[in-house]
Amino acid sequence: MVKLAEWRGKELFRKYGVPLPKGHVARSAEEAETLARNGTVPLPCVIKAQVLAGGRGKGGAVKFASSPEEARAAAQSILGLEFKGEKVTELLLEEKLPIAKELYLSLTLDRSLRVPILIASAQGGVEIESVDDASIVRIPVHPFPGLAAYEKRRVAEVFGATGSLAKSLDRLLESLWKAFQDEDAELVEINPLAIVGDGLVALDAKVIIEDDAAFRHPEYGDIRDDRTPLEEIAREKEIAFVQLDGNIGVIANGAGLTMATLDVLKEFGGNPGVFLDLGGTDDPKKVTEAFLLMAQAKPRAVFLNIFGGVTRCDTVANGLVAAMSQVPPEDRFPLVARIRGNNEKEGIEILRSAGITSIPTLRESAQAVVAAAGGTA
Ligand code: ADP
Ligand code: MG
Repeated sequence: MVKLAEWRGKELFRKYGVPLPKGHVARSAEEAETLARNGTVPLPCVIKAQVLAGGRGKGGAVKFASSPEEARAAAQSILGLEFKGEKVTELLLEEKLPIAKELYLSLTLDRSLRVPILIASAQGGVEIESVDDASIVRIPVHPFPGLAAYEKRRVAEVFGATGSLAKSLDRLLESLWKAFQDEDAELVEINPLAIVGDGLVALDAKVIIEDDAAFRHPEYGDIRDDRTPLEEIAREKEIAFVQLDGNIGVIANGAGLTMATLDVLKEFGGNPGVFLDLGGTDDPKKVTEAFLLMAQAKPRAVFLNIFGGVTRCDTVANGLVAAMSQVPPEDRFPLVARIRGNNEKEGIEILRSAGITSIPTLRESAQAVVAAAGGTA
């Protein structure tokens, strides 16, 4: 996921004509003071931590200042924060606007309807998850013609916008739609969208660029900080590898079997920690590489669940056995295998000669690995 920090999201919004407060990024308290002193950022101003997590307002990562000295002090205190695990290194300073009302507006993908969906609520400024459902309007949008006039009127109705406010809402919706489409976004969210005077201003910006379109956006190449270091190595080696919170490593092949394996482990009280999808490969070296990467994540136990098709059971078994000898003794872990399908007999034999038994049923193998990892959570 390419998740943009607020200031990047706002830069993107600006290109599409979304109305924004006047503002500027600062990376030190001195810089913040200077911006406030020389009028680059009008006073009073707001100073906001540029972290990816939400809830900054409530969490003390958004502060107000009415003098350059106050701006410096606020910047100083926010820069020292570690907000929900993220170090604050960037700030956004903006003019503080007189808010008449805070609204919520976003465009995202509805994966079950398979269309973009416009979400609006008159209760903005709080996380949308905490707004009761009756106060949220969801409008599926046909992706080809874009927003219809009646769909925009529906949002105006939700916001109680008439006259010139309705006109600026109309323009804003067009801008947001265009930004969503042209930038390959999977989410553009304005929360809050503020009524200021008789206009609308985006006070916050959350933008996520669709992962599969990331190659079309080299401009964001340097900000993929949502991957762990191991996930980064895996990506370079073209291995599908994801780190979760649990302690059981999963090696499977194909997204379907991999997801099902995670579900089954959960079902038996286990806690998947890393999963790795071998996909279709006939190269034992690739399996070895993947396995060594798994070892670096230090799982308590590993579940190898393979259905031999393109990826033959003996290929996996050979790769695995080769890898095992390369794992330093202190990083070794119990391994439970279940390999079925193409060249199953050969695969099982290779594993057996390395001291690993393949358990044929999913239930028993899953239970065995949960036990090996220390039992149910
Ligand atoms: P988060 O969503 O992380 O809490 P926001 O950017 O939404 O951060 O800011 C939190 C709150 O701070 C907003 O709901 C709004 O009330 C206030 N706020 C943010 N920017 C401004 C601004 N430029 N002028 C006035 N108030 C603001
Ligand atoms: Mg917000």
